[in-house]
Amino acid sequence: MESSFRIAVIPGDGIGAEVIAAGQQVLEALAKRSGSYGFEWIPYPWGSAYYAEHGVMMDAKGLELLQNSDAIYFGAVGWENVPDHTSLWGLRLNITQNFDQWANIRPVKFLPGIDSPLRTDTSGLDWIVVRENSEGEYAGLGGRNLSGRGPGNEVAVQTALFTETGCERIIRFAFDLALTRAVPKVSSVTKSNAQQYGMVLWDEVFRRVAADYPGVETESVLVDAMSARFVLAPQSLSVVVASNLFADILSDLGSALAGSLGLAASANLNPEQRFPSMFEPVHGSAPDIAGRGISNPVGAIASAALMLDHLGLPGEAGKLEAAIEAVAASGIKTRDVGGTAGTQEVTDAVIAALGQ
Ligand code: ATP
Ligand code: MG
Repeated sequence: MESSFRIAVIPGDGIGAEVIAAGQQVLEALAKRSGSYGFEWIPYPWGSAYYAEHGVMMDAKGLELLQNSDAIYFGAVGWENVPDHTSLWGLRLNITQNFDQWANIRPVKFLPGIDSPLRTDTSGLDWIVVRENSEGEYAGLGGRNLSGRGPGNEVAVQTALFTETGCERIIRFAFDLALTRAVPKVSSVTKSNAQQYGMVLWDEVFRRVAADYPGVETESVLVDAMSARFVLAPQSLSVVVASNLFADILSDLGSALAGSLGLAASANLNPEQRFPSMFEPVHGSAPDIAGRGISNPVGAIASAALMLDHLGLPGEAGKLEAAIEAVAASGIKTRDVGGTAGTQEVTDAVIAALGQ
């Protein structure tokens, strides 16, 4: 075996554990077929159950432990015993912020055999949402009850942070990504008519960076108009770059258009590779279906393909994506996309399709 990759695995809560187990099975099968690389899995039991026992979402040495890996494979976090903002900040955002994973890639991909709620022809359609992942509306700046007023009169302030370097690096990242695509186009999304400081800065940086990429078509679109465009003219999209909050919302919309939140993959990248990057399905812990063996593993498996690409195995990533498409086209799919198959059945089908 030529190389072995150390992968930190954080299954987390609810269906996170189910879909990550599926992804690991598929990666093991792929590596076995290739014979030229393998995985060393390092599991961590962090999440809401860990919180119930220890009062924290992850070990105090957690980041140190994770640093010692080639990538992190993450399920989902969130359960009823922990307030949502505590679980999110205690684990997922703790990692993305401290490992400076400032670029979040969320492909929106329409698979054969999966119905879209759109009435237009969506076959072969795909675009990528690039999410600023380190600042913006998620900077955690602000406070409550600043004025010291009594109950019923509380004031809360939530500040969005936009730095010129933060805007520039994510916008440049989007342009570089656009150069690798069939249609080299970047759509920048803000609400700079109403958010007159940070988002105006973003728009200015966008225009400046665009001048360095004469071969890339560009446009600046307000987020409300872009939401409508996702539905009415998705063929016009290639790379969509937006702030932390806007890109989060738009990528959920994109995955719903592609058929289900359960299909959507994502990569949280530290492009400088000073810290490990993290790969996770876009969906959450889905308590309503957890433990029933019916969760859709495709988002987690497609995230594994993004991880392979990041590990320097684009050919292997391509094989995995082709297997996902073949299985979708064959009609083996979970209930969220109109099928009857369980998580394991879809996983087995993807593994079988790798051999074709
Ligand atoms: P979070 O706050 O963590 O983002 P959420 O409230 O957005 O979570 P999710 O858990 O992401 O909710 O999913 C919303 C609903 O979509 C789930 O309750 C579930 O019914 C469905 N869903 C999400 N992911 C999947 C999946 N992989 N397979 C099947 N259904 C899914
Ligand atoms: Mg969500």
